[in-house]
Amino acid sequence: MSFLIHYSEIALKKGNRSFFVNKLAENIKIALKDLDDVGVKKLSGRLLCDIRFPTFAAGNRISIVEERLKKIPGIANFMPAFEIVLSGAGAADMESLKQAVVKEIADRKFSSFRITAQRGDKDFPLTSEEINRELGAFVAREIGARVDLENPEFTVFAQILRDRIFFGFEKTKGVGGLPVGSSGRIVSLLSGGIDSPAASFMMMKRGCRAVFAHFHSFPYLDYSSQQKALELSEILNSYQYGSKLYLLPFGKAQSEIATKAPEPYRTVIYRRLMLRVSEKIAEKEKAGALATGESLGQVASQTMENISVIDKSVNLTVLRPLIGFNKEDIIKIAREIGTYDISIMPDQDCCQLFMPKHPVTKADIKITEKIEKDFDIPKMISGILGKAEIKIL
Ligand code: ATP
Ligand code: MG
Repeated sequence: MSFLIHYSEIALKKGNRSFFVNKLAENIKIALKDLDDVGVKKLSGRLLCDIRFPTFAAGNRISIVEERLKKIPGIANFMPAFEIVLSGAGAADMESLKQAVVKEIADRKFSSFRITAQRGDKDFPLTSEEINRELGAFVAREIGARVDLENPEFTVFAQILRDRIFFGFEKTKGVGGLPVGSSGRIVSLLSGGIDSPAASFMMMKRGCRAVFAHFHSFPYLDYSSQQKALELSEILNSYQYGSKLYLLPFGKAQSEIATKAPEPYRTVIYRRLMLRVSEKIAEKEKAGALATGESLGQVASQTMENISVIDKSVNLTVLRPLIGFNKEDIIKIAREIGTYDISIMPDQDCCQLFMPKHPVTKADIKITEKIEKDFDIPKMISGILGKAEIKIL
């Protein structure tokens, strides 16, 4: 079976398009590597993925392939496709197209249809419009269905290239964006909440490979947040493959902060420490930025002042892809990517440990730095990193 794959914004890249296309082809191969004999070929402006299924298993496997392709960043859409190799004689090629299309749709039931032809190669003797009309008339006559351009029950897509035609009937939308790995790496701070998995996905869709970092308060709290982080990483892994999750024990540091720091500043200090630990992980993983799921004003710790103070704890850029998103939009993303149901499960999140009753909303950098003078921050960071557990997915 062949899948014709159209890529997304890569089409707009001029000079280094082949870098992006190669990355996408590589990612597709990785996503399908457990299926037999997968080949990904570059054609002009698109990719062709060939998979040799044994016919007895084809039905089920097509849907497996579709489920995976739907999640690969960089794919705009894809379609199971049939191929006709062109002879160069226009009339004969048109005849082959007609016969092949009618053969493939013979056992499908529909009463109206349209043809959507696209001529990528202008040497083909008929224009797209002429192909639509000629093929449409033929199908209408052979199948006994009527043409409906506005609201067809069935669509025949035909793509005419220089040396071949592909046609198919079901185009599936992909997630779009850029292939994972084309923009570099990030360390994504992954809580068990709704926002950070959505933020991770947003960054992966912009071509980042995400390394996940989760802070937990085990054994002060139970294991549930780690379990959630692991399940969330598994779902996110289906968008990038080969993920890594750092599980970082944060309870001891929290307890120290809760003992010594003024209560309203606790959350800001926790957050700054999380970023510092993540920055060290970034160094080790050769990641160029951090990412969080913060959205401006969503909770007390996410005011502009607090975010500014939190940012100043590290040198790396902190990306916040959800900063301007409303909660309902974030929930929509979480539902689409499949993380929502896990995120809403109750857990003992580290933020619940020693949480201040009245957190500061306008944190001040001078006050924050003065409070931190009481702590041996490098020691806290290495204490956490020394006990980190790494899960490879
Ligand atoms: P989320 O829905 O992602 O949990 P939130 O609305 O609960 O976010 P905060 O608790 O203020 O907001 O957390 C802000 C961001 O800090 C999170 O989106 C996440 O990136 C990071 N973060 C918070 N807690 C943790 C944690 N335990 N481990 C890793 N990152 C965390
Ligand atoms: Mg949270």
